[in-house]
Amino acid sequence: MKAKRIQTSLKKLKKQFPARAHHLEMFEAIQKIVYSVSFSSPPVLDRKELEQGLRSDRTVLDICEQRLDNGAFLKALTGLFRFLAAHSGEGGFESDAAGRFPAIKEERLPDTLMNNYLSAAEDALAGHAAELGLSAAELVSCCQQAARPQLVTLREANPPGDDMEWKLGHCPCCGALPCFAEITAEGLHCLRCPNCYADYIFSRHYCPRCGHAGLITLAMDAWPHLLLEKCPECRTYLKTWSHGSAEPPCPYPYLDIVTGEVDEAANLQELRRLSLGVMGV
Ligand SMILES: [Zn+2]
Ligand SMILES: [Zn+2]
Repeated sequence: MKAKRIQTSLKKLKKQFPARAHHLEMFEAIQKIVYSVSFSSPPVLDRKELEQGLRSDRTVLDICEQRLDNGAFLKALTGLFRFLAAHSGEGGFESDAAGRFPAIKEERLPDTLMNNYLSAAEDALAGHAAELGLSAAELVSCCQQAARPQLVTLREANPPGDDMEWKLGHCPCCGALPCFAEITAEGLHCLRCPNCYADYIFSRHYCPRCGHAGLITLAMDAWPHLLLEKCPECRTYLKTWSHGSAEPPCPYPYLDIVTGEVDEAANLQELRRLSLGVMGV
């Protein structure tokens, strides 16, 4: 099977945000590559198993990590590497000092890569990256893109149910930390996963990463409806769109990309994002 992509009018967005046009094009090209790979249907958990798992703070992925399609993941990753090697130095993804991205053939990819990525086995991933001539950050970004179609499908096949309470700050489907938040018109604080695009409700007053209470809210002149919620404890921030008076210019995940200038400004002030964005940086 193949996963469905979230689409938006790219032409309109590029016109509205010319400084982000290149990022939007890169993202679109990468999505096309990884979403074109067929994979075997993800597991559909029995309702009881799913509810029991979530109730004991296990994510959907924790329960069925070994059951995703490794061959399809490696194929998507190889397609992505081929694209990045051909478009070296065009930005959007990091590359080496000379601006090159190495060409990497599928047979060089270790069989354990997908599961090491999904379980965030940092030491193993650093080892794989060194063998492939990439930085660990580059490898993780690429794995994030290659795994997304399967994670999106896994989430859609295993919805948590309306009565399911999830009190943790990370994604109930794949375990990633959020890269964006929205305060809905009803005042709910909804977090957005950069990997599987899940949205889930979390208490507004606590940091989703470290649980610290007492976030500092910074307003942006250029983006009056976007807040930076900063955690003084773990020194990270989360971009937060406050609905109510204004609708965002585009849906998430595109909203994360068009507001990239906010991340660039925050980086200059040595603020760290709470997690990777949808483009893996
Ligand atoms: Zn997720
Ligand atoms: Zn924190």
